[in-house]
Amino acid sequence: MLEINALNVAYGRVQVLFDVSISVPEGELVTVIGANGAGKTTLLLTVSGVLRPQSGEISFEGERIDSLRPHEIVGMGLGHVPQGKELFPAMTVLENLEMGAHMVREEDEYRRRLERAFEFFPRLSERARQRAGTLSGGEQQMLAIARALMAEPRLLLLDEPSAGLAPIIVDHLAEIILDLNRHGLTVLLVEQNAFLALEIARRAYVMESGLVVESGDTEDVLESDLVRRAYLGI
Ligand code: ATP
Repeated sequence: MLEINALNVAYGRVQVLFDVSISVPEGELVTVIGANGAGKTTLLLTVSGVLRPQSGEISFEGERIDSLRPHEIVGMGLGHVPQGKELFPAMTVLENLEMGAHMVREEDEYRRRLERAFEFFPRLSERARQRAGTLSGGEQQMLAIARALMAEPRLLLLDEPSAGLAPIIVDHLAEIILDLNRHGLTVLLVEQNAFLALEIARRAYVMESGLVVESGDTEDVLESDLVRRAYLGI
């Protein structure tokens, strides 16, 4: 569904991604793990058209997207939940969700999408009239995901959803991500939290200093010396 081939990305003269190739088959949950600064956020920003690659190709469902603009890419069915969530804190939960569905003109369709978002996130339904800035960290992350779902993406890019959350909330979030995937959403999850990512993903890539240094089925990646030493501490 998503093919990233030999991607090179730089900020000015400083190159941060080197020949990165990643493949996300339809229906799968694929993860990219790596430490702070490995280039995970840069990768997702390039896929969603915010950054332009120096070279390399990105295709979504067989179409090249590496020279498209972000709104065109979202319109094709590729959603992005950015790191830091980028909610509108002074707006209510409902208003934030409306922003995610701004392209939906028909009221019935909007209602259908809202109901679906509330099915996955019942807590948000209870808090619909509350300002987003007053939600807990976990609820804000759920709102950020729900807002992206309002555009009905077929592929969702998730940038470190576990950041700053308590372990019990991370477990709950992992369940939700798995549930979304079981309902047909393809997911590319980037995470520093290797425990979370490797527990729920089928395939994994490990990035270090802008390079993919390991990849394969999650069970195999979990067995690799590099991952055991550097990420799992065993
Ligand atoms: P984190 O978990 O901290 O977000 P990451 O794996 O997502 O890390 P990136 O944020 O993609 O990593 O950063 C990759 C490299 O690019 C780092 O060395 C970082 O300092 C650098 N970098 C990120 N954003 C910029 C920018 N706007 N200008 C210059 N360099 C940047």
